[in-house]
Amino acid sequence: MTESQVKKIGVLTSGGDAPGMNAAIRAVVRTANYYQLDCFGIREGYSGLMEGNFTKMGPRSVNNIINQGGTILKSARSLEFKTKEGRQKAFEQCQKIGIEGLVCIGGDGTFTGAKIFYEEFGIKVIGIPGTIDNDIFGTDHTIGYDTALNTAMEAIDKIRDTATSHNRVFFVEVMGRDAGFIALNSGVATGSLDILIPEKKYSIENLFRNFRKAKKSGKSSNIVVVAEGEKLGSIYELAQQTKAEFPDFDIRVSVLGHTQRGGAPSCADRVLASRLGYGAVIGLMEGKTNVMAGIRANQLVYTPIGEAIKKHNEMNGDLIKIAEILAT
Ligand code: ATP
Repeated sequence: MTESQVKKIGVLTSGGDAPGMNAAIRAVVRTANYYQLDCFGIREGYSGLMEGNFTKMGPRSVNNIINQGGTILKSARSLEFKTKEGRQKAFEQCQKIGIEGLVCIGGDGTFTGAKIFYEEFGIKVIGIPGTIDNDIFGTDHTIGYDTALNTAMEAIDKIRDTATSHNRVFFVEVMGRDAGFIALNSGVATGSLDILIPEKKYSIENLFRNFRKAKKSGKSSNIVVVAEGEKLGSIYELAQQTKAEFPDFDIRVSVLGHTQRGGAPSCADRVLASRLGYGAVIGLMEGKTNVMAGIRANQLVYTPIGEAIKKHNEMNGDLIKIAEILAT
């Protein structure tokens, strides 16, 4: 490799935490060390960047974290960084210790902040997609998605046991504010009766029709997986409307919530995080900036942050059809 374009870099985690962020931090720190760059861990996202909450990290600072959920650097949401004054403070902190490049691990908001910061002050930035929602363009998967998906699947499997024993109908809400990836995939993986996602136009009549079909065919477990951001109504409203239509149904609602954010990262997430952490450092060394490191079709690729934020990964149409067919 030709000479690195940066000598001192920082790494931060920001926005919602996701399992695998620690594996990404570890990969950034160790890759930086391997190529003899100084690497600073920045605590609490952009808040720590503005406050100068930096710690020099070496390979031993990231011992025993590849298997841990959460983020050792902590994450935070900062309103101040959305102001020019806040970002000016952050720039001064970077200048103080000579940070030339930043690896920002997070979602859409984190990337928007990084892009603006680069455009205003010229500190090089590379994003790593870390969010369980999988809603970032430029990578097939985001860090944390696979773990969250498996957590949701295991929880729904358990609900299925009780649903079947009591002939109950369950509405299960999984995370995904604007994206139905967790709902669609966990719904298919658990053989749910129906799956409601923000990307698909749907009416309550569709749902009722599927319940009638299931009744007729003698389906013994009736689980409806609902994405948090689904547009038909809240999960409680859906349950109420269903009860009004089918008074004999014994209906329960289960919101999986933050359990989906925690836990040890899956193998796929650890490997993805390791590849992206490495890719981010290599990108900075090559002088790349204002891009996000991602893995598409098993290749490391860099996508302009502006594109990663604006565009969306399409929901797989086949999988939506497959879900319908297999639920019958
Ligand atoms: P998740 O998708 O898990 O919520 P996220 O990265 O999208 O993660 P946000 O809370 O939206 O989470 O953003 C994280 C931080 O990024 C914000 O707290 C803020 O400091 C910074 N940020 C977001 N939007 C902007 C913006 N328009 N300008 C500057 N900074 C921003």
